[in-house]
Amino acid sequence: MDFRSVLTTCPYCGVGCNFIFQVMDGRIIATLPAKTGPANEGSLCIKGWNVHEFVQHKDRLTKPLLRQGGSLQETTWDQAFDYAASELNRLKETYGPESVAFAGSARCPNEDTYVFQKFARVIFGHNHVDHCARLCHAPTVAGLASAFGSGAMTNSFAELAHAKCVFVIGSNTTVSHPIAGMYLMRVRGNGGRLIVADPRKTQIAQLANLHVQQNLGTDVALINGLMHVIYKNGWHNQAFIESRTENFPALVEMIEPFTPERTEAITGVAAADILKIAEWYAKSETSAIVYVLGITQHTTGTDNVKSLANLAMLCGQVGRPSTGVNPIRGQNNVQGACDMGALPNVLPGYQYVTVPENVEKFEKAWNAKLSGTPGLTMVEQIEAVHQGKVKGLVVFGANPAVSYPDSNRVQTALEKLEFLLVMDIFPTPTTAFAHVVLPAASFAETEGTFSNSERRVQRVRQAIAPIPGKTNWETLQELCTRMGYPMAYGSAEEIFNEMASLTPAYGGMSFPRLNEKGLCWPCPTPDHPGTRYLHQDRFTRGKGLFQAIDYRPPAETPDAEYPFWLTTGQLFSQYLTGTMTRRCPTLHHENPEVFIEIHPEDADRLHIDTGEKITTSSRRGSITAKAWVTERVRPGVVFIPMHFMENAANRLTNAALDPVTKTPEYKVCAVNLGKAA
Ligand code: SF4
Repeated sequence: MDFRSVLTTCPYCGVGCNFIFQVMDGRIIATLPAKTGPANEGSLCIKGWNVHEFVQHKDRLTKPLLRQGGSLQETTWDQAFDYAASELNRLKETYGPESVAFAGSARCPNEDTYVFQKFARVIFGHNHVDHCARLCHAPTVAGLASAFGSGAMTNSFAELAHAKCVFVIGSNTTVSHPIAGMYLMRVRGNGGRLIVADPRKTQIAQLANLHVQQNLGTDVALINGLMHVIYKNGWHNQAFIESRTENFPALVEMIEPFTPERTEAITGVAAADILKIAEWYAKSETSAIVYVLGITQHTTGTDNVKSLANLAMLCGQVGRPSTGVNPIRGQNNVQGACDMGALPNVLPGYQYVTVPENVEKFEKAWNAKLSGTPGLTMVEQIEAVHQGKVKGLVVFGANPAVSYPDSNRVQTALEKLEFLLVMDIFPTPTTAFAHVVLPAASFAETEGTFSNSERRVQRVRQAIAPIPGKTNWETLQELCTRMGYPMAYGSAEEIFNEMASLTPAYGGMSFPRLNEKGLCWPCPTPDHPGTRYLHQDRFTRGKGLFQAIDYRPPAETPDAEYPFWLTTGQLFSQYLTGTMTRRCPTLHHENPEVFIEIHPEDADRLHIDTGEKITTSSRRGSITAKAWVTERVRPGVVFIPMHFMENAANRLTNAALDPVTKTPEYKVCAVNLGKAA
């Protein structure tokens, strides 16, 4: 009997818990929390405890598939590589290199993603490479980078528990990031105050000192209202503003009209509560802001993030322990995939493609001709398919048929493609459209690193042999080699070392240094201890930039035909499109099917009972599901969880985009509602 314990990092959310796989005779038999995990300190949520259930699920793709006679048939790796390479070369020669786009994943290790974006750039000479951060935290990257110079969580998880005040906005933390929620649940016990602003009555909202339910899509108005009160009462930090920031007068002018009364009229939050939140946040010794997708998935996503940065700078609540602006990433490696340059405007390490020196640096290192023009974002790639500009798509670890907004329109685009290559661990609604499917290795079958929300780069370790026979970077480098750019990495460590040599924030990291507790970037030199919290003496950009942000309503609001607000979100036992969690029996048992939350007042008016089938429709599509009558939502609002492919909430959602980052407005649209026919 061969028995081993393998320490590795969770592949679900951006907290980055460490756990130990118990491996017997080449199979994982259990998952145990690691006491040494810096982000989880020996705790795990239900998803972490049961993670091994999906890794060895019978549905795993084990062999390449090739579309023949209208259906996908098993084939050899050799044939799949040859066919994929010849089709991608055909599109490149027939329509030009811009005709092929790349959509990656925030779930894969850094090393896989680094090779993926390099493949796109060196073979096609463009920057049409993006990944699912576009759908969640791209506004964080853009908003915080413009204000502070760095688009990442400023502080660490453990610090949150010791803040004297935590302002949680747009985050259902105990559900979407349960171990981060654990730290927030300690705030009150440690003598701090917990404030939650969320349109729904979530669990963390019920644990707070104060919960306010702002109208959907009114966050900028709420934050401007808080800043108005803080400034008028003289609770702002003048010394910090003078020494550490610029452009303050523009902010003062912008917040002037946001009186508590006007803010109440826009947001629905009582003026007295606005006053209380402003005082608690501004006057506490240490105040931290926590947010997730309730802030970013709006047409005002980047504005929302900039507004939170304004609030933190106004009160000097940044650059110290237990303060800051803290976006918790939805997926395990959103931070890492952004760091690796799987974005259409930056090379690894946020080195802008528009800066000629950056392009030259990577051209020299990679011995290839690169582009200085930003590429297409994920949603723009789909539009380019409809316009006939993009003919081929390479999808790695993503499920656009379900996860993108307005999924009916996405599926029509996938049908139109001349060539679709998908790499994934399971069959998905997206693989159903593919011409070639390459089976991927899961996180449990590879060496590498993930970078969690607190910028901590942690080791991922191989517990079992790759189920498809190859790791993902091996697959990608083989395809790249067959397309004429030889790659010959011998290990994930070799890839990491190349990436670190080109990425200043990772410059002092190496696998031996990461082995114990990982390191938080920036870590520029081999003797640097890593950086627990950012912007201590100066912001990354020098001075922090106040940006005057006015309130804009959501792109779609209720009317006579579609009189309800719809918002979407997560369940504690599910993850994204459910590809992994719905294959874990323990998790599936908790939340087996989709439901629609509706307030009792609305349910009474429409004669709807809990458990009854109802249909909800938007201008884009319809779904039918069981009603759940609950006061978690406000009257006039319905909520649908996002995980269920057969009843995807994204048939309803609006593909209206944030103008800066092109992130869709998943959190707000207008729907109607009635008993199912
Ligand atoms: Fe995994 Fe997140 Fe749960 Fe931790 S909190 S075990 S990282 S899903």
